[in-house]
Amino acid sequence: MINRREFLQCSSAIGISCIDPPVAVPPAANYHLIQTDTLNSWSVADPIEWSLQNADQPILARAADRLGKLTNEDNERIVRLVVRRCGLNLVDIQSNQVTVHYWSDQLADLRPFFKASGLASPDVQVTLINRKTEVFAHKIGDEFRYGERLAEDFSVELLTSKWHHRFVNQPDDQQAVPGSRAGFAWEGLEDGQIPWAAMKSAWRRMQPIICLNCDQPNILVNFGLPQVSFFRHAPRFISVCPKCQRSFVDDSITDVTGWMATNLDQGVRPGFRVVFGNRVERLASS
Ligand SMILES: [Zn+2]
Repeated sequence: MINRREFLQCSSAIGISCIDPPVAVPPAANYHLIQTDTLNSWSVADPIEWSLQNADQPILARAADRLGKLTNEDNERIVRLVVRRCGLNLVDIQSNQVTVHYWSDQLADLRPFFKASGLASPDVQVTLINRKTEVFAHKIGDEFRYGERLAEDFSVELLTSKWHHRFVNQPDDQQAVPGSRAGFAWEGLEDGQIPWAAMKSAWRRMQPIICLNCDQPNILVNFGLPQVSFFRHAPRFISVCPKCQRSFVDDSITDVTGWMATNLDQGVRPGFRVVFGNRVERLASS
């Protein structure tokens, strides 16, 4: 019989022989269960014992009949049963190695748990095991952060430098924010490009969005109403966290004209709307 730790280690390395017993005494287990629908999580000393002892609890109701016929020697059956029927993910943390057992498409949104546990880091190795197919996926903890990675050529240094100078005018403030796409046009810039002067005005006026990873203020890098398809323009508000270097889309703003009236000084508002690549509408507020 293999013990709990050996079982889970073997489960984490299917395809690798687990006949030889481990030489060293493994560290204390650090097991957690995550409910996939609520994302509630809690730690358990031993997931097998916990499942057997709590078989009559509502959270394990869908596995109760089977659990009543199993013993603590049925390690693998119990893990597969609980993650399959009860909508739970089992997380096994050993230092910077994390293994997540889940069933088919019932993988929880792991980002809140990884954030709370300090696991959303490039130093953390993550193995996801689909217990239905026994297919493994190897990830790094960094992949469980909120937001999107920045493009390789995105200059956080330039962004933070301009942000630190948001209360002063600089000679290059009429130049475009790299990569900006507003659906509006300013004199002297290509259609859609946002001048730093307008962005600085927004930084001075708006309440910053807080980074979901770092709980620190993000910096806005795009606003506007660009054309996204033949018939449609859509709000495009994007901010960046300089610390974790992730970008975030804010889809809570629907009244873009109203937002610009509130957050852009009159002298830095756009002169035109851009439709099908043409400056079609002169804006009265500029
Ligand atoms: Zn961040």
